[in-house]
Amino acid sequence: MCPHCEAVITDPHATVCVQCLRPLRPPPVLRLAFPAGEVKIPVGQRLVLGRDAGQSPVAATFTQYDNVSRRHATVSLDAAGQPRVRDENSTNGTYVNGERIPPGVDVPLREGDLLRLAADVTGTVYLS
Ligand SMILES: [Zn+2]
Repeated sequence: MCPHCEAVITDPHATVCVQCLRPLRPPPVLRLAFPAGEVKIPVGQRLVLGRDAGQSPVAATFTQYDNVSRRHATVSLDAAGQPRVRDENSTNGTYVNGERIPPGVDVPLREGDLLRLAADVTGTVYLS
């Protein structure tokens, strides 16, 4: 049922009300909770994680970790709300739930996954 006009919604995947055309739920946001701060990626966007402020807009979150590469990994949230991470040929690797992922490949993430850069910085994946 639409929360705005109470129209009955028959399509369980519908994102917009067929009657009043208002969104049925807010657009998803990917959040990565790291010890030094939280990183947010809106739907349809991608973000480079790394220690170099010229490569990554969130470099301040990682500057204290010497093992993190200047350009380490890219996280993204596609239009359908699927989060992914790609290792950018980092020196010390990117890990999802303890498993090293291959460089240059987009790997799907799920709510609650642990994303680790190199040996010593781990973030938790949240979708909201
Ligand atoms: Zn409606």
